[in-house]
Amino acid sequence: MNKTSSENKLHTHCDHCNKQHVKIVRYYQQETYCANCYRTWFTKKPCSSCGEIKRLHKKEHSSVCLDCRRHQPCIRCGCDAVKHSANTPQGRACQSCYQRHFKAPQQCFECGKKKTGLSRYQELPHQHPICGTCYQQHVCETCPACRRYRKLVDTPQGKLCHKCHELGEINCPSCQKLMPAGCGEHCWSCYWQQRLIREVEINQNKFASDGVKQGYGDFIKWFVAQRDYQVVTLKHQHFVKFFERCNALWGQIPNYDKLANEFKPEGLRSHLTVLRWLIDTGQITINLKVKDDIAEQERIQNLLGKFDAVPEQVDRYYEILVKKINAGRTTLKSLRLALQPVAGLYQQFGLIGAQAPSQAQIDNYLTLKSGQRNALYGFINYLNQTQELELKCEVPDLKRRKRAKRQQLEQEIMGLARQTTPLSKKDQLRWLQLGMAYFHDQEVSLKALANVPVFCQPDNEMLRLNYEGKHYWLPRAGQ
Ligand SMILES: [Zn+2]
Ligand SMILES: [Zn+2]
Ligand SMILES: [Zn+2]
Ligand SMILES: [Zn+2]
Ligand SMILES: [Zn+2]
Ligand SMILES: [Zn+2]
Repeated sequence: MNKTSSENKLHTHCDHCNKQHVKIVRYYQQETYCANCYRTWFTKKPCSSCGEIKRLHKKEHSSVCLDCRRHQPCIRCGCDAVKHSANTPQGRACQSCYQRHFKAPQQCFECGKKKTGLSRYQELPHQHPICGTCYQQHVCETCPACRRYRKLVDTPQGKLCHKCHELGEINCPSCQKLMPAGCGEHCWSCYWQQRLIREVEINQNKFASDGVKQGYGDFIKWFVAQRDYQVVTLKHQHFVKFFERCNALWGQIPNYDKLANEFKPEGLRSHLTVLRWLIDTGQITINLKVKDDIAEQERIQNLLGKFDAVPEQVDRYYEILVKKINAGRTTLKSLRLALQPVAGLYQQFGLIGAQAPSQAQIDNYLTLKSGQRNALYGFINYLNQTQELELKCEVPDLKRRKRAKRQQLEQEIMGLARQTTPLSKKDQLRWLQLGMAYFHDQEVSLKALANVPVFCQPDNEMLRLNYEGKHYWLPRAGQ
């Protein structure tokens, strides 16, 4: 008899004689017994635990009475299971073990997945049972102090988790630096550091050669100095392959020619960081051309690295360009120049996946970056051919470009003017630069502005700039 059908007929159907509308006097291992069947199936015999004569199931030789059963510990966690527990075919289980491990999975009302441990929650707008993950999404947020995903409380400093609110900052038990109390065992930096050390130790066992072992350790140290523990921890596993191959083939890190021969340009391209380390620490010498190529590849990697996931169209276009390089029909530099506006366009408008930019987005992009038109042309052509589109890659007319430029300047000026704190040195220069462009149509570099004499009187709302022998009046920032 399966559980659902017995549940449906609960209270009125005896699973043993199959009679409907009878009074059920006993549930045993999820089956129902009417009074008659109970007397037939449960005979008087001594309980295998307390020895007292009780009615126990005929077929079970070592069954225990209800009283003893109630006092058995939870069969899973061993805790006291007297109250609020459930009898399972395997024995008694405490409520939390029962919900998580013995109850058949049920469908969560919110995510629809079959899960155990569903509950109803008072604080939610509905009263349907939902899973723990869905519940967390209702009540948990990332604590802005410790960055853990938890229940937050309202405090005078905004929302915080309980620990961060009550204890504030404490010393990290590992490095003694102050950290938000909610972090717990160690600060984030110590967490990433300890994790990295552990992982590096494990990896080092893979190398028979002491030279490679040492090299790998040095590389990690260098990498940490360039970035930080978190970045290195998340990325370093990828580079282990490089050292593994060196270990297996040469027992050391060889010269560049051997590397290039073995890894081929594509292989080295995916280990640029290791190459950069080898070059910067003088472990390999390469000629200028190769050096330039590597620098160019790093720029390309940075361009693509700005995406969480490289959009499909960008990736495909990139592949086409790489093929062109391999066929000797273009250079790395041209590839990078062609990829730059494509990446810029996709990032500016947040395009993802297989999306193609709209005509309006292309026009918009070129309105402010008219100089990138030629570089973008190839990509638009590619889209038109592969996606059957009719996009145009033309620079909008001068009037429109000027209007857009003014709008952009206006927005930035307003942004600085609205700042409530005094402007930083850099923002002050930017203010002058924006003002010169907006009010006087003069493009002046920040570097030039840093050396331009500026006059202002305390009671005057205007500044005077002496630039290339002329006076220019600008409003003062923060007025
Ligand atoms: Zn019956
Ligand atoms: Zn007993
Ligand atoms: Zn338990
Ligand atoms: Zn759910
Ligand atoms: Zn916190
Ligand atoms: Zn620490």
